[in-house]
Amino acid sequence: MPHTADLVVRNARVYTFDDDATVAGGFAVRDGLIVEVGSGTDLDALVGPDTRVEDLGGAVVIPGLVDAHNHHSVAGRAELFECSFPDTAGVDDIVGAVAAWAQAHPDDEWIVGGSWGSGLFSVLAEPAALAALDAASAGKKVLLADDSLHNRWANTAAMTAAGITIDSPDPHGGQILRAASGALTGVTAPAGPEFWARCSRRGIEIMNERGITAFMDASASEGLMAGLALLDERGELSAWSVSAMLVNDFIFGTTVLGTELFAMRERFRTPHHFPDFAKIFLDGVPPAYTAAFLQPYRDGGPHGGCFHGTTTMPPEELLGWLRTAGGQGIGVKIHCTGDASVRYVLDAVEQIRAEGIDAIVHIAHGQFIEPSDVPRLAQLGVVAEISPALWSPSVIMDALGAVLEPDVMARIHPNRDLLDAGTTVACGSDWPVSPDPNPWAAISSLITRADPYGIVPGTVAVDQAITVREALHAYTRGGAAALGLADRIGSIEPGKSADFVVIDRDPFAVEPTELAATGTLATWFAGSPVFALA
Ligand SMILES: [Zn+2]
Repeated sequence: MPHTADLVVRNARVYTFDDDATVAGGFAVRDGLIVEVGSGTDLDALVGPDTRVEDLGGAVVIPGLVDAHNHHSVAGRAELFECSFPDTAGVDDIVGAVAAWAQAHPDDEWIVGGSWGSGLFSVLAEPAALAALDAASAGKKVLLADDSLHNRWANTAAMTAAGITIDSPDPHGGQILRAASGALTGVTAPAGPEFWARCSRRGIEIMNERGITAFMDASASEGLMAGLALLDERGELSAWSVSAMLVNDFIFGTTVLGTELFAMRERFRTPHHFPDFAKIFLDGVPPAYTAAFLQPYRDGGPHGGCFHGTTTMPPEELLGWLRTAGGQGIGVKIHCTGDASVRYVLDAVEQIRAEGIDAIVHIAHGQFIEPSDVPRLAQLGVVAEISPALWSPSVIMDALGAVLEPDVMARIHPNRDLLDAGTTVACGSDWPVSPDPNPWAAISSLITRADPYGIVPGTVAVDQAITVREALHAYTRGGAAALGLADRIGSIEPGKSADFVVIDRDPFAVEPTELAATGTLATWFAGSPVFALA
């Protein structure tokens, strides 16, 4: 049997992002892996009768892009399902919104939405409310979140699908509300793997459209991991998926956390899903005074005193989590927006490194890093996971400037210094915190330090600008290393997964201001097309 390829890509301008920054004419793929990279005609020997040949007419190809931080399932769920109504809605309004949604989406099995006001609890727990919801739902399963995202109101069909009966015990950390008679009321815990799989599939579909073929979900729950595993078992998972399991949660309403979640991870491991990270929120955000800083807040903070902000846990507890997770080979992504939080992480990592724990650690966001701490990331092997979509000139920057001293603001996002120090830099969209996971606007802002959409004037700490190559490196090789997948993805080289993107312009030839509008023509994952521009 001759060693022909399954796929040969030729007549392309391939930025391989290998160590030598090779620009190739094409490459060959077998069994989802790149087997040869060449100039073009040298790949002809690999073309057999069953080989698919893609002549790209000179188009530009780059490795599949890596989004090192998003909440893809939340985004997919909102995009796909949300039947929305205001949290001031009464039962009649909610039931009306559900009826309208059911009529507009006749083929859907589920209706999911929100948000009902937490004040409605006792009203929704009446059997009459459930009967009205059932009548409006046209046989579909209904699951509606409250405004805290902690509680759900389900109809009878949804409870039946989830196997909830009158005899069901309350879920872990939760409660199935029952009427005084003992009847089910429908106020209950979240849905099963099928629902999660649909949310993930939509989120990943959107990422594939933007050229993303690998990501880390930074708020993984049991349901999310079950959904990803289910998709992969069905051959429908079209991105390398890394789950960062929540250790603490102030946002997503996840009840199973930390070690309990870690203990489940092998159940959900599949060829393309790696439940290999933990996620810790160490602080919040500066405008709410919940980020921890070495210097006090500019206006004294909420109490008008000398306020530095606080962390969600003391340093010993953070160290404990790094030991617990790292000791099991679980990497740790830590949300830090203030420079004091960053220092706590670096001090804790220094300790675990001394103990021989070499787990990957991410400082997520890391907007502010005290200059003397910058070299420590590289020294300690800590990844700077930056959020370029969130910090170009905008109202967010104005909000930061209102609470932080000018000298702190002047060193926001020290990307130039981090790279010069040898730090592994990866990029995260934080989607849907940012409205779109599109990497190109973020790449543009990394280079210009200006608003990629050209709306808000000015630049932000322009001395920290990086180059096109460095920005794309962060979105490919940097992201691959951050996800713990450096040996599988991140470049177009023999042995790596055939993940690549065909784009509509040459990022090295256009003006930086034109980068934001870069379009994806096609995306391939593990040797198969997963998106093509219609
Ligand atoms: Zn996030």
